[in-house]
Amino acid sequence: MSAETIGARALGEARPAVFWLDRPERPEPAPCLDTDLDVDLAIVGGGFTGLWTALTAAEANPGRSIVVLEADTAASGASGRNGGFCEASLTHGLENGVAHWPDEVDTLLHLGDENLRGLLDVISRHGIDCSPESTGALNVAVSPWQADSLADSASLHEAHGLSVTLLDTPSTRSEVDSPTYLGGIWHHDGVVMLDPARLAWGLQRAAESLGVRFFENTLVRSIEAVGGGGTTGVRIRTDTGAVAARRAVVATNAFDPPVRRIRRYVAPVYDHVLVTEPLSGDQLAAIGWSNRQGLSDMGNQFHYYRLTSDDRILWGGWDAIYHFGNRVGAAVEHSPGTSRMLATHFFETFPQLEGLSFTHRWGGPIATTSRFTCAWGTSHRGTVSWAAGYTGLGVGASRFGALVALDLVDGPTTERTELEMVRRSPFPFPPEPLRWPAIQATRRAIQRSDRRGGRRGPWLTLLDRFGIGFDS
Ligand SMILES: Cc1cc2nc3c(=O)[nH]c(=O)nc-3n(C[C@H](O)[C@H](O)[C@H](O)COP(=O)(O)OP(=O)(O)OC[C@H]3O[C@@H](n4cnc5c(N)ncnc54)[C@H](O)[C@@H]3O)c2cc1C
Repeated sequence: MSAETIGARALGEARPAVFWLDRPERPEPAPCLDTDLDVDLAIVGGGFTGLWTALTAAEANPGRSIVVLEADTAASGASGRNGGFCEASLTHGLENGVAHWPDEVDTLLHLGDENLRGLLDVISRHGIDCSPESTGALNVAVSPWQADSLADSASLHEAHGLSVTLLDTPSTRSEVDSPTYLGGIWHHDGVVMLDPARLAWGLQRAAESLGVRFFENTLVRSIEAVGGGGTTGVRIRTDTGAVAARRAVVATNAFDPPVRRIRRYVAPVYDHVLVTEPLSGDQLAAIGWSNRQGLSDMGNQFHYYRLTSDDRILWGGWDAIYHFGNRVGAAVEHSPGTSRMLATHFFETFPQLEGLSFTHRWGGPIATTSRFTCAWGTSHRGTVSWAAGYTGLGVGASRFGALVALDLVDGPTTERTELEMVRRSPFPFPPEPLRWPAIQATRRAIQRSDRRGGRRGPWLTLLDRFGIGFDS
């Protein structure tokens, strides 16, 4: 039977639901804002960026009145839908950091390590039960051009003081057994696999315990500057209430933002994920994976996959789908064609798991920038800041994004705000109707590059020269 047929059967019973969120412990929604409030700090968006902003601000200054306004429920966006790879990298990987900020990359590595340690410290201080596992990550080569790049990548990581092991075909397959693997690199440090929804809910509980008030099902419609002289701030309007805030942080990532300027830098891209039923002991033995690393293959289009704490496999990636006009939401969340393709790729990778079923399939919006990392900015006379655009590596980096957003809105110059990565904006995406064809042309060039042994071709070479790209 072909992998396609096995995959289609395995998808038969999969629910169109997010595995992490589809659980009885999902908190009841907080009330909707139905009044007018006056606060010190308002945060728009209850994903990781908003949650880290809230918790950090409350811990730093217990007297500050803080609200979070969330259009849906906390973690309903990318934060509750991701793979749970929590990485130290702030730059979407070392190669991308070196390409964009060669003089700053070692500082960014140091700040990334510090950020991950800070994140793990909060998990343990607040007793957040999100199953963190410091497994490291295994990047596997599945075609000869990827295998050829392994040694250079390993040397680059070692030159920056990172601990990696280069693996040949047999040693890769002795870690995790797939007939598609030709070699790999095991990144030992700076990668923690965790349960993202439980992390988000734990951060929400911790923030609430410090007095932060959450309003859910509360879509922010507009933010306008008010006052003058010493009493500046903003008025934030929702359909059912309003908040007068001295400072605000916008943490809406891939969603249509209430600060227009963010739209220039961020494009929403849908990434899709499958989760299997728990593997039996025999199924686990058939693939090995006893070190439980986070895995990804190394093409421009790639899969990422991992074991959950109950030994399911979460399998996502490959397609990065941009919908015309920056469209996001339920109507574009499920893509049966992409799910079928992911299922086929799964059984091509692990033919020994024939018979295993998928239980969940979903999609989620990744916010990408043309440099694949978060972008920051301020607006409304400096009383509002924003952080968005982590591409596919925001579980860890969103804490750093939040710290910078708080520095920016509170005014102090810090090591973080002095970074070139923070001070300089990414190259903007063109507006529609040009954005869609530009992204489609780039996606096609990426697919061609993977088919042609990684050769970049004229379009990608041109974008590379300007430090611009498209990724998930
Ligand atoms: C399928 C998928 C897999 C991923 N895998 C990984 C991974 O393994 N590792 C990794 O590091 N990263 C991964 N990412 C990326 C990571 O999840 C994100 O970078 C991170 O969660 C971003 O957090 P955020 O708070 O900025 O955005 P979000 O979690 O998207 O939060 C934004 C929130 O703002 C709310 N909102 C929007 N507009 C308004 C408004 N007007 N008013 C009020 N509220 C509003 C939304 O409802 C949403 O809850 C993945 C993302 C996806 C989608």
